This record gives sequence, C-alpha cells and structure tokens, in this order.
Amino acid sequence: MSASDLVSPAVPSGPLVLVGTPVVPGVALGPVVRPSAGVRLPEAEQPELPEEARAAEKVLFRAAAELVAARLAARASAATGVSAEVLSTTAGMARDRALWGAAEQRIDLGVPAASATVQAAQQFVDMFTTLGGLMAERVPDVRDVRDRIVAELTGQGEPGIPSPEVPSVLLADDLAPADTAGLDPARVIGLATRLGGTTSHTAIIARQLGLPCVVAMEGLEDVRAGVPVLLDGDAGTLTVTPDPAEARLRVEAARVAAEVLAGYSGPARTRDGHAVPVLANVQDGPGALAAVAAHAEGVGLLRTELAFLGRAQEPTVEEQAAGYAEVFEAFAGRKVVLRTLDAGSDKPLAFATPPDEANPALGVRGLRIARRDPGLLERQLDAVAEAARRSSETPWVMAPMVATVPEAAAFAAAVRARGLVPGVMVEVPSAALHAERLLEHVDFLSIGTNDLSQYTLAADRLSADLADLTDPWQPALLTLVAMTAEAGRRTGKPVGVCGEAAADPLLACVLVGLGITSLSCAASAVAGVGARLATVDLDTCRRAAEAALAQDDPAAARAAVREVIAADA
Ligand code: PEP
Ligand code: MG
Repeated sequence: MSASDLVSPAVPSGPLVLVGTPVVPGVALGPVVRPSAGVRLPEAEQPELPEEARAAEKVLFRAAAELVAARLAARASAATGVSAEVLSTTAGMARDRALWGAAEQRIDLGVPAASATVQAAQQFVDMFTTLGGLMAERVPDVRDVRDRIVAELTGQGEPGIPSPEVPSVLLADDLAPADTAGLDPARVIGLATRLGGTTSHTAIIARQLGLPCVVAMEGLEDVRAGVPVLLDGDAGTLTVTPDPAEARLRVEAARVAAEVLAGYSGPARTRDGHAVPVLANVQDGPGALAAVAAHAEGVGLLRTELAFLGRAQEPTVEEQAAGYAEVFEAFAGRKVVLRTLDAGSDKPLAFATPPDEANPALGVRGLRIARRDPGLLERQLDAVAEAARRSSETPWVMAPMVATVPEAAAFAAAVRARGLVPGVMVEVPSAALHAERLLEHVDFLSIGTNDLSQYTLAADRLSADLADLTDPWQPALLTLVAMTAEAGRRTGKPVGVCGEAAADPLLACVLVGLGITSLSCAASAVAGVGARLATVDLDTCRRAAEAALAQDDPAAARAAVREVIAADA
C-alpha cells in the first residue's frame, strides 16, 4: 500500500505515522500547508530582442532584482540571529554585481531578461558546484534568487511559503534558506522536510526559531495540503489525521514540558544527582554572552575558525587574543574549551587551506594545516596564552581532526609549554580506537560526533541524500563513543561530546549512560538537554545506552531508548 492510499480519510486501519530524523523538539498540531508550486522558468529557446528594446529590458531586469533584494533585506531587518544573516546574504546575492553583469551581458546580446537571469544564475551554480565545500552550499541561494527574479519579471507572484490563515504545519521537499529564515512562527508552527540533515540550514534556523522540526522524512510527498497532522519533533514522527483527543493530550504534555524548560537554570544533573555539565558551542564573545544567558555551565567548544571565514590574511596575534579574551571573560572562573583552527573541508580559510584539493574532507584540514605552516598553530597558541594571561583564566585547548598518537603528543607539548591544558577531539575512527593511548599525552578528549559519523559511515555530513547514515543515533557511531568514554573511565580523565548529538535530549541520556562526562551543544539546546537529564537516573541512562548499542539502525535505537526511559519514568 502506498502512503497516498493511507492519507485518505476512508482508510480504516488507523492513522499513518511517517518517521524521519528529529532535529527540534516540540509538538505541533494543525493542517498541512505546502510551499507554492515552483516558478515556471522560460523555455531555453527565446526569440532575440531587437536592439532598440535591449536598454529597456535591462531596466526591467534591474528593477526586478532590486525589488527582490529590497523585500529580503526588509525581512532581514525584522529578523534576528541566523535568520537575519541568511536573509541578508540572499538579499546581497540578488544585488550581486557579478550576477547583474552576467545577466546584462546576455541582454546586450538580445536575450530576454528572464532567460538572461536563468543563464547568468546557471553560470554561478556551475562555478560554486565546481568549487565545492561552503561555496557549493550557496547553490540553493542562487537558485532561490533566480526564481524570485524570474517570478517578478513574468508576473508569477512571489515564490516560497504562503502565509496560512490558521497555524499550520509546513511540509516540503526541502526549503531555500531564505524561505526558512522568513517563516512566521505564529503561522507556521512546525516543519517537516523530505530531504535535509541535522546540520542543514533548515535545521539550524528551525532550531533558532524554536520550531518543532523533523527532516529526512520519507512518504511526505503523499500528504496533501489541508490534511490535519501531528508533528512530533521529539520522536521524529508525523501522524496523519491523528485521533483528535489523543493529539490534544500530546500537545498539552509538550506545553507542560516547555514550561519546565523555561524554568531551567542549571547546573545539569540526573534525577539521582549525577552531575553532567551542559556547556555551549560558541564562536565569539557575543555568542558566549548568549550562552551565559541560556544557563550554559561553560563553553565546551569555541570554534575559532568561524570568526575568520572570508578573511584573506591570517588575523594578528593581538586580534585573536582580544577575541578569545572576550569569551574567557564571559565565563570567568568557569570552563572554556577552545579549539584551534579547524580550517579546511566545508570551512576553508583562504590563509590556511590549500587550494585545489581533490578530496578536501580527507585532506589538509584541522590540525593538519600545521604540517604546511607550523607557525599558524604556534601563533594561535601564543594568542590563546596571551588572552588567558589577560583574563587570568586557564582555558583548555584542543586540536581538531587528530588521527594519531604522535600528533596528539606534539600538540600537547606545544600547549603545555604555554601553561594551558591540552586535549584533542575524537572525530576520526582511529582516534576513538586509540583513545586510551591519546590520553597518555592529553588531559581530556572531546568527541565531535558530526565528523566522527561522517568518517565512520563514509558519508558526507552535508549530503541530504545520506542523512540517514550520518544520523548520530547510528549504533556504530555510538560504539565508538562507548570505546572512547571507557578509555576516559580507565584513565580517570574527562571525555565530553561536542557534536550535534549532544543537542538531542534523548540521545544525551544515552551519552551519559555510555560514560560521557560533559555535553556541549548550541546555547538554544542547553535547557532542553539539562531539563531532560533531570528526569532520569544514571542507571536508567546506562540501560538506555545498552539498548541503543544493541540495535541495528537509528530508528530502532530511538524506539528502544524511549521504551527503557518510559518504563522508569
Ligand atoms: C564535530 O565534528 O562534531 C564538531 C563538533 O566539529 P565541527 O562540527 O565544527 O566540524
Ligand atoms: Mg568536526
């Protein structure tokens, strides 16, 4: 039976439940709304414009592009955080001189404005696709801007998300970043997509807006607009035409849970009092202040490279020291774990990453950039030491992408020489396999589950098609986490988790059960994780961890853990 047979109200066998990857907890009940149909692009072959019409056609093109940019910029100024950034980046692309130049060149040759827009956009799509990494991530923005300009030129109306009259659940294949960023949470109360992973733009923005969200959900295409659905962002399910009374009970339970979150103020501990600090992942001083406000107990991952994306030159020691000191001061007297530059792969830095690598995810990234330029690491450690001196703190400093024991030993020596506390990230299976040997040299480990899943399952963490493989509930990934935590237990040294896995409240219980000693996640996820831990005993976490390890796939692991935890509630 296909999913479309089941969405008909005539089906007697109870509601259909679709399953995907949960990314933002919470429950939403309402009718389905779908993005408006895609923009019709002009046929490839168009009659040539007469020469005397070309100047006017260029004026039309500029007016359409400028209108699109102005609308997006207005939404950007009404938004905050990541949403504002995404909307203003897309607005900037609609005003991009290179895009305009490419389109106008074609209009000068007699191509009508709509076709010229399509051809110019394709030129950029091809270029960004060839460059790969972060540049390739801009392709959806280029296509989105193309569609908006063509819609304007051809009178098709603004593409994207309609504004529903009643609070609704948005179902889509995938969303352009600007569409997600422009969502009004009063009207769109939940979001599910057929594609996308836990680190996709859709997921990041939904997390910021606090919108219950599930991605990578198969069968979604068959659920029609207007049908009532219950979206469960904790379980990762979508119930089509749910029983109304049961659905209302579930919504009420979620509301009570949200109240508990609002009252969270840390420190995090299990119901029986086992302390597990919940720290925040931040990138700069303002981010650290937001994390303090969110009751994070410290910083578990300061992603230093994010402050320097787009820089052509290495920042000076002084500039770096000033930036790091802001973070240390925001968390004065508390733990801050700074990560040295993780340049390369999806985060290339012009001054650190080799150009033209055939396979950047397996190339010179993370600690490996110091092979080409040891001074880069030395100067960054000098800056950290200087910031520590100024703020009288002793930060922990860790290296990303460590694969071998000699790498860890050399890094530890350089860090200790500056009076700082050395650690390494476990992001490569070889590091998990040799965790105990690494701990002979460093004082702590921090597991980066985003990369550890990519390298364990051999699946690109940015690929929407492979999101099921990079799901942090994959039992093989959890087995490596268990091995690493066990190494920490044997040596008496801390082992934290700082990848997206730590932002999932249910998975956090499993990680604690595996022996993880601290968790670090986005500031917006801190209360959810801390409040969840307060509802379970350490022993329940241990049994939940055993149950998860015994499964063969993420959905089965989630279900098994829910069962263990519900039995002890
Ligand atoms: C990780 O890989 O899990 C991690 C925390 O590092 P990043 O996401 O910055 O690569
Ligand atoms: Mg990583």
